[in-house]
Amino acid sequence: MQHARIEFPAEGAVAAFPAPATSRSLAARLAVASRPRRDFECLECGEPFQSVEAHAEFCCAAHRKAWNNRRMVRGAQLYDLWMMVRYERGLARLKGLRNLMSNLSRAYRDADRSLRNGRRSWRRCSDALGAIPMAYGSEGDGR
Ligand SMILES: [Zn+2]
Repeated sequence: MQHARIEFPAEGAVAAFPAPATSRSLAARLAVASRPRRDFECLECGEPFQSVEAHAEFCCAAHRKAWNNRRMVRGAQLYDLWMMVRYERGLARLKGLRNLMSNLSRAYRDADRSLRNGRRSWRRCSDALGAIPMAYGSEGDGR
C-alpha cells in the first residue's frame, strides 16, 4: 500500500490550496508515522505488508472493503434465516432452516479455504463482541 507523502511548503511560501481535511492533526499524523512498522499478512489477498498499527489486517482500503462486503452479504443471508428460526419456528422446522444455516456456514468456510487459502473471513471475538452493545432498549438497534 502506498502512503501519501506529507509535503511542507517552503518557508514563507503561501499554500496554493487549502490543506486536505483530515480527522487527525499534523502532529498526530507525524506521531503515527514515527511508530515502528510491523509485518502483517492481508486477510483478503494474503500478501505481506507493513503498518504502524498494532493490529493491522488489510494491505489497502479496497481489500478491507472487499472483506467486509463478503461479511455483509453472508450476514444478510444468515440474518433472514436466523430470524425465521427464532420467530417463525414452525416454518423454520418445516424448511430445515437450522440445517441450511449450518450448511451455508460450511460452504462459506469451504470457499474461504479454496479461494482465499483459508484466511479468516470473520472478525476476532473481541472485535465482534465489542461492536455489539450489551443491552438494547425497546427500540432495538434504532433502525
Ligand atoms: Zn490485500
